Amino acid sequence: MRIGFIGLGNMGGGMAANLVKAGHQVHAFDLSPDALARAQKAGCTTHAQAGDAVVDADAVVTMLPNGAIVRAVYAGDVLGKAPAGALLIDCSTIDVASARDVAGEAAAGGYRFVDAPVSGGIAAANAGTLTFMVGGAQDDFASAEPVLAAMGKAVIHAGAAGAGQAAKICNNMLLGASMIATCEAFALAQKLGLDLQTFFDISSKSSGQCWSMTSYCPVPGVGPVTPADNGYQGGFATALMLKDLRLAMQAAGEAGATVPMGERAEALYAAFAEAGNAGLDFSAIISTV
Ligand code: NAD
Repeated sequence: MRIGFIGLGNMGGGMAANLVKAGHQVHAFDLSPDALARAQKAGCTTHAQAGDAVVDADAVVTMLPNGAIVRAVYAGDVLGKAPAGALLIDCSTIDVASARDVAGEAAAGGYRFVDAPVSGGIAAANAGTLTFMVGGAQDDFASAEPVLAAMGKAVIHAGAAGAGQAAKICNNMLLGASMIATCEAFALAQKLGLDLQTFFDISSKSSGQCWSMTSYCPVPGVGPVTPADNGYQGGFATALMLKDLRLAMQAAGEAGATVPMGERAEALYAAFAEAGNAGLDFSAIISTV
């Protein structure tokens, strides 16, 4: 399949490489010359203009920083440039309203469109083990599934247009709040004189267990190897967690949902990022409790 790929950063670079490995012809564009050079090395054909990457494409994948950029790239570089009928897949994490608007504009232009944000970080993007949560019509999901399967371990249909983004931000709101709660539990356990490995052994088999504890423990030397064991480098950056929490708060406001724990998580991550920790893994927030 001929695939146009726009946005070859930390995530998109590995994803495009996996599409090449799966036998697709990938035509790549990014504003960054470094990102383009890496894509070329991975076997992509690179282009100086986004429009050239999507001409004659059967499918277009975008992996961009935010909703405003996704709207601009679709309006300026994809719609009207890719052939009518092409399958358009936006894997960026963006606000639900932008995802629905872009889906509407794509449909009006005669395109098939799905929003397909991912769970899993840079390592999963490189390894081809992302989880995709997909919003769009059943037929369009069926068309997108094999393309996404070349980049991931799970591809799940979440519902109609925008449902992928909705699932992503609800999941990450839960993750942000549960990480802070996990950090607090370890801090209290320590103050109460518990050995932290012992507390992990007990809580990871008790009703308090959650992914933030058992798979991503914020305490160095406890549980599986995580960014905590690497000085909180790599992993999922605090800035990205804050971005997702802000998207969740925006969506909650628009939907009239009451999310006090999400609001608190957003405020705590905002303060942590502003204190100069935006580049650290989000589990580093344990230093504040
Ligand atoms: P990134 O900043 O590394 O990559 C974004 C790329 O988009 C950059 O290479 C940039 O040059 C390019 N770009 C920006 N504007 C462009 C334009 N107008 N035309 C073409 N290219 C343009 O970001 P990332 O970490 O790869 O994240 C991409 C998306 O994936 C974001 O929406 C992010 O929230 C989401 N995400 C990231 C992670 C993660 O761990 N990094 C995990 C899950 C989801």
